Amino acid sequence: MKICVLPGDGIGPEIMAEAVRVIEALDLKFEIEEALLGGSAVDATGEPYPQATAALARTADAVLLGAVGGPKWDALPREQRPERGLLGIRKDLGLFANLRPAILYPELANASSLKPEIVAGLDILIVRELTGDIYFGQPRGIEMRDGERYGYNTMHYTESEIRRIGRVAFEAARKRNGRLCSVDKMNVLETTQLWRDVMSELAADYPDVDLSHMLVDNAAMQLVRAPKQFDVMVTGNMFGDILSDEASMLTGSIGMLPSASLDANNKGLYEPSHGSAPDIAGKGVANPLATILSAAMMLRYTFGLEEAALRVEQAVKRVLAQGYRTADIHEPGTTRVGTKQMGDAVLAALQD
Ligand code: NAD
Repeated sequence: MKICVLPGDGIGPEIMAEAVRVIEALDLKFEIEEALLGGSAVDATGEPYPQATAALARTADAVLLGAVGGPKWDALPREQRPERGLLGIRKDLGLFANLRPAILYPELANASSLKPEIVAGLDILIVRELTGDIYFGQPRGIEMRDGERYGYNTMHYTESEIRRIGRVAFEAARKRNGRLCSVDKMNVLETTQLWRDVMSELAADYPDVDLSHMLVDNAAMQLVRAPKQFDVMVTGNMFGDILSDEASMLTGSIGMLPSASLDANNKGLYEPSHGSAPDIAGKGVANPLATILSAAMMLRYTFGLEEAALRVEQAVKRVLAQGYRTADIHEPGTTRVGTKQMGDAVLAALQD
């Protein structure tokens, strides 16, 4: 069980240190090796995704990533930017399934911009296809046609691409509450008519999962009207990009949200949904919980260690119930702690 740890830039090393302490405290005999990605890799090697990192990431069973990027590297040519390292590793590892839970712990209900009764207890999972769709379709471009500029992209999916992301979503729904909502735009886009057809065909293999379909415009509306109606949602790359950001913001606390990107063999890259937060880097105040919860997703999806994943998630719930809060989620009446103290609290809760 080998984990490649990529702390990255900004707050990345600070939050990763806490996640690694949590993994080590589980005493599960993981082999943990660290490498460079993003701006720190550019500084050391000139490349955002160096060969040595690629070699380690390919041989590891899972990759745990902090975050990359920062103003220091913003003026570099595009191929040397830290974000290129992120795209590079996702592509290199063939990560086609992005899983983003949006969970609102009852203790943090006031952090949401929605009314607490609409969001308290929210627990949904968005499964987004990550390597196809209009983001990668050819032909694409901007060119002159009939004396004016003409921009175009191509949306496409093969049925095998739809089936493999569908299976990830059905399996996830099976492990949760058994409800799956597939999101498309079949009334206008043929590609997504195929999406709906293939999802419906797949349903025959999962009689224990209740499949429904929803048009994307309605899904965007329902997510803010009554988000708790959803359990698992599955959709293509572009719709998933938008809906997963919308869903994560329902919780109002970006420092709490983990994510997983998986390949066909459940090898995964696990990372918090937030960035490198250069504005607070080095101050010891960043919230490490999204990274710790990403480690819990790694235990569940790559290593199949459901019990250990639940142990970590319960520990996080316990520290919130005990009133510990980093600055981003702090409210009057709770105890403000820094990154390391939050890690200490999770470790203490793990031992209980
Ligand atoms: P960001 O997510 O880094 O920060 C947005 C705001 O949220 C900031 O005010 C920040 O302080 C706060 N924040 C984020 N994570 C937090 C945490 N764990 N605890 C407390 N507060 C937290 O987004 P940004 O400012 O738009 O981007 C900063 C850099 O991160 C950019 O270089 C961007 O390209 C990069 N980025 C990287 C990733 C990634 O590595 N996956 C994702 C998004 C952005």
